[in-house]
Amino acid sequence: MAKARAKGRPRLSKRTLPSKTCPVCERPFDWRKRWEKVWDEVKYCSERCRRAARTR
Ligand SMILES: [Zn+2]
Repeated sequence: MAKARAKGRPRLSKRTLPSKTCPVCERPFDWRKRWEKVWDEVKYCSERCRRAARTR
C-alpha cells in the first residue's frame, strides 16, 4: 500500500532558509544566524538600508 513517499512536500532542511526582500534596495536577503531571535522584526538587509529607510 504505502508507495513512494509523497512528493511535493519538501521537508525543512538547512538549505531552505527563510528570506525576505529589502524594501530599500529591493534585494532579497536570507535568514542569518544573528537574526535568529528577531527575524520577525527584520525588514532590511543591512544596517545601512535600515538607516536609509529612516532618514527619508
Ligand atoms: Zn537593503
